Order: sequence, then C-alpha cells, then structure tokens
Amino acid sequence: MSVSELNPALASSAMTDPFGRRISYLRVSVTDRCDLRCFYCMSEDMTFLPKADLLTLEELDRLCSAFIAKGVTKLRLTGGEPLVRRNVMGLVRSLSRHLKTGALKELTLTTNGSLLAKYADELADCGVKRINVSMDTLDPAKFRTITRWGDLNKVLAGIDAAQAAGLAVKINAVALKNMNEEEIPSLIEWAHGRDMALTLIEVMPMGDIGEGRIDQYVPLSMLRTRLANQFTMTDLPDDTGGPARYVRVAETGGKIGFITPMTHNFCESCNRVRITCTGTIHTCLGHEDASDLRKPLRASESNELLNATIDRAIGLKPKGHDFIIDRRHNRPSVSRHMSVTGG
Ligand code: SAM
Ligand code: SF4
Repeated sequence: MSVSELNPALASSAMTDPFGRRISYLRVSVTDRCDLRCFYCMSEDMTFLPKADLLTLEELDRLCSAFIAKGVTKLRLTGGEPLVRRNVMGLVRSLSRHLKTGALKELTLTTNGSLLAKYADELADCGVKRINVSMDTLDPAKFRTITRWGDLNKVLAGIDAAQAAGLAVKINAVALKNMNEEEIPSLIEWAHGRDMALTLIEVMPMGDIGEGRIDQYVPLSMLRTRLANQFTMTDLPDDTGGPARYVRVAETGGKIGFITPMTHNFCESCNRVRITCTGTIHTCLGHEDASDLRKPLRASESNELLNATIDRAIGLKPKGHDFIIDRRHNRPSVSRHMSVTGG
C-alpha cells in the first residue's frame, strides 16, 4: 500500500486546473466492450481493443485509488458496459474500502441494465447507493432497433432488482429524432411513477457510427418547449457541477435533467475527468486531449511518477468544448466513441 493510500493527507496536493476548477469527480471506463450496439453510440461491426491493452482490475484499482488520494470524492464506473467486464464486482468490492474510510463519498455506475438483475444486490452490499440506467424507450421493438438486438425485459427486470435492493435509479435517455421524441412524455410519467428521475441527453458527435448524426439530433431546447405544453417545470438550483440542468415537474413531483452539450455550455463548473480502460486520461469530453497514465502506472510501484503525470494532465484541462453538428459538419467532432471515453 502506498503512503498516500495510508494517509491521504500525505498525497500530492489536490487537483485544481488552470481555470480554478477543483477536480473531485472521476469517471472510469472499465471496458470498451458492450453486449448492445446502440446505433448512436457504436457501429454494428465495432472493433474492440485487444484485451491485452486493457488495464487489469488491480491496475484500475490502483489508478482510482491514486485519484481518490488526490481529492476525488465521487467515482463512476462506466464503459462500454461496465457489468460485462469479467469480475468487475471484484473491483467494486475493492474500491468500496474507500467508502468505508470516508475518502470516497460516492461510488456509482452507469449501465445499460441488461445484467443488473444479476448484480443489483451485490452492488448495494458494496455500498453503492445510486446508479444510472440508460434506456431510451419503453417499446420493446424500438428498444431492439435502437440497441440492434437488446431485450427490454432484461433491463426492466434489472431496474426492478435495483430498486428492490434499495438502489436509487436514475434513467438516462438520449433524445432521438423520429425514434423516441414522441415518447418522452410517457417515459417521464413512467420514470416518475417509479420514483426515478429521468435525464434527457442530446446526441453528441463522438466516434464514427456509420450514419450521420444530423439524422438523430433533437435539440433539447425544442423538446423542452414541447414538454412545457404538458408539464409545469420549475428550474432547480444547480448543485452538481455537472452538465445536467434539472427541473421539478409539478404534475408528477419528479425531476427531469437536461444534458445539452450542443446548445448549452456547462464547462465553467466542470469538476470531472475521465479515464479509459487503457489508462488514458481525457480532461474534457469534447476535446481530443489525452495523456497516457498506463506507462507511469506500470513504470514503478510507487505513485510518484503517476501523480506527476496526473498533475500535468490536469494542468492541460481545456477551458471548454466545441461540439458542432450541422450540415457542413456532419462528421464526428471527436473521433473516439463515447463507449471508449465512458459516458
Ligand atoms: N453502457 C452503459 C450505458 O449505456 O449506460 C454505459 C456507457 S454509455 C457510453 C453511457 C451513456 O452515454 C449512455 O446513457 C448512452 O446513452 C450515452 N451515449 C452513448 N453515445 C452517445 C452519443 N453519441 N451522444 C450522447 N449520448 C451518448
Ligand atoms: Fe453499449 Fe451503452 Fe453504448 Fe449502448 S450506449 S452501445 S449500452 S456502451
């Protein structure tokens, strides 16, 4: 165990970027693989990374722990689909020691829910309190079209199991033109009826998916105007430092989040960085910026070099992103897929 793990106070200083933003939130993609192929996220014939390129679970643990020692208090596991990584629960169990010490305030994950029924109890047992489940429709046929072969019933069973295990569930839905646009009000009513918040996401131009984003993109500003005909929405104060803006719906009592990278700039309060399953750190979702942490991680057993590389990467965090989807820019602004960076 490193000195910084034994005593976080001895770790190198907390991470603050050149724009004064304190980095306290780490999202880690534990695999680029997935059991689904959502058409806005992946092409049907995705090529995945050779397994040998991936950090081992022990390396992922060490990397996450180094970030926790440097002031990360919220850790989200994502992917690809985090629950398809073999023995991912070993990692969750091991990271949960930081919840016990209080160094970590929240350990959570984003999942497509297809394997959730199997793991919900164990997640709760490891101290996970809340999870995000991505589900864009309640129509089984549309679900199959969006995910290319997914079974909606498995996701619904996963959500049931998660709630039965006492996990708070938030639903993420990507707003998709001519696909689920009309269904959003019923998704809201369904989610709120089950005491779940619903976050709507705009399609982001990440990775080549074999078809144009312009055909999928719905500006949430437009959707919100339409929702206002049916729901009374009151803005809630922003306290997450994240990209979602929340409203309370008077009719249901529930919350809707809007993640609008294309029409709203949320970069000023960004407190997060992302790590891929190969140990690359991206300090901004919307930039090609990247630093390799795998090499310093493997170079020595002490974290000195690793910490210095992390500090250098944080020092390069861009001020903001620059996504564009229009007819002249009908290609990805960022070449890596969301499943690589971790959504
Ligand atoms: N497989 C897990 C899941 O689907 O929740 C975790 C990874 S997935 C990449 C995380 C989130 O990113 C999901 O909510 C997904 O809908 C969203 N996502 C994927 N590609 C996207 C894109 N191009 N634009 C916007 N959201 C995207
Ligand atoms: Fe898999 Fe999640 Fe991407 Fe869908 S959004 S293909 S579930 S990683």
